[in-house]
Amino acid sequence: MGEGGEPIRKVVIVGGGTAGWMTAAALARMLGRSGLSITLVESAAIGTVGVGEATLPQIRSFNRLLGIDEREMMARTAATIKLGIEFRDWGRAGDRYVHPFGTYGEAIGPADFIHYWARANGSGEAAPIGEYSLPIVAAWQERFEPPREGDERQPYDYAFQFDAGLYAAWLAELAQAAGVVRREGRIVDVRRDGTSGDIAAVVLESGEEIAGDLFVDCSGFRALLIGETLDAPFEDWSRWLPCNRAFAVPCANGGEHGPYTRATARGAGWQWRIPLQHRVGNGLVYCDAFWDDHAARDVLMANLEGEARGEPRKLRFTTGRRQSLWRGNCVAIGLSGGFLEPLESTSIDLIQSGILNLIDLFPGAGIEDSDRREYDRLMALEFERIRDFLVLHYVANQREEEFWRAMRAMPIPDSLAEKIEDFRARAILPDYAHGLFQPVSWIAVLLGQNILPQGWDPRVEAMDGDELGEGLAQIRSRIAREAAAMPDHRDFLRASGASFVGQEARA
Ligand SMILES: Cc1cc2nc3c(=O)[nH]c(=O)nc-3n(C[C@H](O)[C@H](O)[C@H](O)COP(=O)(O)OP(=O)(O)OC[C@H]3O[C@@H](n4cnc5c(N)ncnc54)[C@H](O)[C@@H]3O)c2cc1C
Repeated sequence: MGEGGEPIRKVVIVGGGTAGWMTAAALARMLGRSGLSITLVESAAIGTVGVGEATLPQIRSFNRLLGIDEREMMARTAATIKLGIEFRDWGRAGDRYVHPFGTYGEAIGPADFIHYWARANGSGEAAPIGEYSLPIVAAWQERFEPPREGDERQPYDYAFQFDAGLYAAWLAELAQAAGVVRREGRIVDVRRDGTSGDIAAVVLESGEEIAGDLFVDCSGFRALLIGETLDAPFEDWSRWLPCNRAFAVPCANGGEHGPYTRATARGAGWQWRIPLQHRVGNGLVYCDAFWDDHAARDVLMANLEGEARGEPRKLRFTTGRRQSLWRGNCVAIGLSGGFLEPLESTSIDLIQSGILNLIDLFPGAGIEDSDRREYDRLMALEFERIRDFLVLHYVANQREEEFWRAMRAMPIPDSLAEKIEDFRARAILPDYAHGLFQPVSWIAVLLGQNILPQGWDPRVEAMDGDELGEGLAQIRSRIAREAAAMPDHRDFLRASGASFVGQEARA
């Protein structure tokens, strides 16, 4: 079974959604040559969740790990570029800010840029923070150019908006070429070892058993192994993130091709807009205690920029995570392990972290408790830090609808309350060694939601007011110049092999 000193020879991955095939492709690439056998079981009759189109820049390093050529990936998955997420109407109606994949400003003294900006803003002499960020200015001008080697511009990164189904299908090809065996069939039973309680085999409808030493549960919200079989408790975070429903529908592009995802606040939730090369993905995430399905569906359909492609699909979810993601000889990756609503496009990234942590801790001579503990510790940090960041978007709102008033009034995790207080008092920001969302992300959302620092690093006061104004103005005009010099996002896509950009506007 691989427990207590026996080597892991056979891995069985249950599920062939994005999580399953990302796991299969990465394990085959990183560990396949060590003689590990990898089998993936999926059921076409059950299908996949079928949403999840916006990613984070970390996916680029995952692609590199798999030897995937970015240009080819973009062509095969109808991908567009994402420089960040634009939030509309999240503070007050009419507000607009971008959480960028890049920094703000540049060093103009010994303190971090945010402190200089905070002082200038306090005296009404700073432009909105977004104007000091190259990816934001480029995104709003619908321009993009990849960062270059030796780039002297402000550092930035990018992610993709793609058809996740096509991405998973491509990874399935790569994984199978690297030796992964794909089995089609519905799992109807799970056999467990009588002594250890570990999973010994999954049983298909045909009666066939697929045995393994280590099982990766990628069965989606069903959580077939980690939940149904091993009963790992689910930690429900609905008290902080109460949205629990979504409708999703693609539509034709109305003519906007900005390289960013958009999240617009609505009466009892929010709506996403994710532009791909040939269509736009849309969805409305909402809380059923404040809106019924009809109301939510109507809001979504009334706010599409082009003709809908089919009927909206309804999805249900509960925000939270399994308290333990590695139980016995089973590791949960993807939706089986937990779900945080897609406000910051974190699910695929969590899958990636789950895979990389599993590879780092992959049990050579058998599974040890220390492997499980460390895996759970690392994944708990990831989940909790994302959770706090998501809650921030909701709690710091100034909207008047009942849902938003309730979100403002809810008790929040202490860890988040402290972060808000630290920023308000003195522009202090969280800085993690592990986990997503570094200081720049917090700056974007804290300021975007109208939480302004009342104090700053005292070293800032040493700078003369004119000098500060001049320094800020120079950064701002340099960024405007550099963004304007970038190619149009559509031209960049065309040059990368996309042939159908722009057709949608006419469709
Ligand atoms: C509303 C919404 C919006 C989202 N937006 C984003 C986004 O923008 N960005 C992002 O990163 N993520 C997003 N996600 C999350 C993303 O969709 C998922 O994280 C991702 O698709 C991974 O899903 P999965 O592979 O874990 O599960 P699934 O796609 O559900 O796959 C489950 C697999 O298990 C198999 N299976 C299940 N039961 C059995 C059985 N009994 N026998 C055999 N096989 C079985 C199924 O056939 C399937 O292959 C979103 C999710 C939701 C709900």
